[in-house]
Amino acid sequence: MSVPASDPRPASVVIQTSFLGDVVLTTPLIAALAERGPVDVVTTPAGAALLKHHPAVRRLVPYDKRGTARGIRGLHRTAREIGDGAGPDAIAYLAQGSLRSGTLALLAGIKARVGFASSAGRRLYTHRIPYHAEWHHAERLWSLSATADARADAAHLRPHLYPGAEEHALVDALLAGTDAAARPFIALAPGSVWATKRWPYYPALARALASDYALVIVGGAEDADLAASIQVEAPDAVSAVGTLPLLASAALIARARALVTNDSAPQHLASAVGTPTVAIFGPTVPAFGFGPLAPVSLIAEHSRMPCRPCDKHGPAVCPLAHFRCMRELSPESVATLARKAATSEVSA
Ligand code: SF4
Repeated sequence: MSVPASDPRPASVVIQTSFLGDVVLTTPLIAALAERGPVDVVTTPAGAALLKHHPAVRRLVPYDKRGTARGIRGLHRTAREIGDGAGPDAIAYLAQGSLRSGTLALLAGIKARVGFASSAGRRLYTHRIPYHAEWHHAERLWSLSATADARADAAHLRPHLYPGAEEHALVDALLAGTDAAARPFIALAPGSVWATKRWPYYPALARALASDYALVIVGGAEDADLAASIQVEAPDAVSAVGTLPLLASAALIARARALVTNDSAPQHLASAVGTPTVAIFGPTVPAFGFGPLAPVSLIAEHSRMPCRPCDKHGPAVCPLAHFRCMRELSPESVATLARKAATSEVSA
């Protein structure tokens, strides 16, 4: 899939400046477009770090829309950078549908602009594609490259990330001398930006699993308290929280027998490296299109809660004040799923 820099075919310019999970779910689209020619990707600095080493990407253009490239001058500067490298026959794919992203493609001088018919920036598109709310988001994004009503098979829908030697070296250094270097481990990702997406029983889950598996906790620096609460119950659990770049976290998750995660970014990292996944859903549901895509993907969710789903992302607090969608998912039931995932026979 490697794309030579001198490829004379028209380039595709994928613009995806959303959350990191969306960036991961854009990789099937990027792979499909790379079959036709070089692919440039415009994404956030964090997204660019995640797509580093991706063999289908010719050029990464970081767009720090809330930082160094904020405002109209940053928009023009980034548009120039996109246009300078894209070539006269480039086609833009608006995986992120804001008016700003559409404007970026327009200012870059890209004449053909493909995006969803439902997006805020749709008036700036030359080709509008139906947004299938009932499809997985990876397939929705992939459909930007496809003919009308075409469907992707499972193999083409799997996202992929490519940690390199430096990311693996960071993981080696983190695990050296720990329980997780000595025996198979399960990764736990207890965090989420949205409070009600956080299942509250990771410490009890860790206690239940610790005799059979080493444990590694993944997440951002903001998850330090969650990691500490897990280590109270499982003192040998290794905390990678806040210590690894995201692509190195993907390399770490790739080594796990399984990942137990909320409906959050680590779930998509596991999908992209093929690690068996237990995904815990509370106020959100997989039918929103953001469920796990790993070859072994198990869902922990409350099947009899008429209030589910109650919010697109997960509200700050349970509007009914009981939070039963999460509180009634027992640690024992999730531990059973984790063991099942960890003993499944799969390969990435
Ligand atoms: S309203 Fe229902 S789905 Fe929403 S957080 Fe509360 S228990 Fe969960």
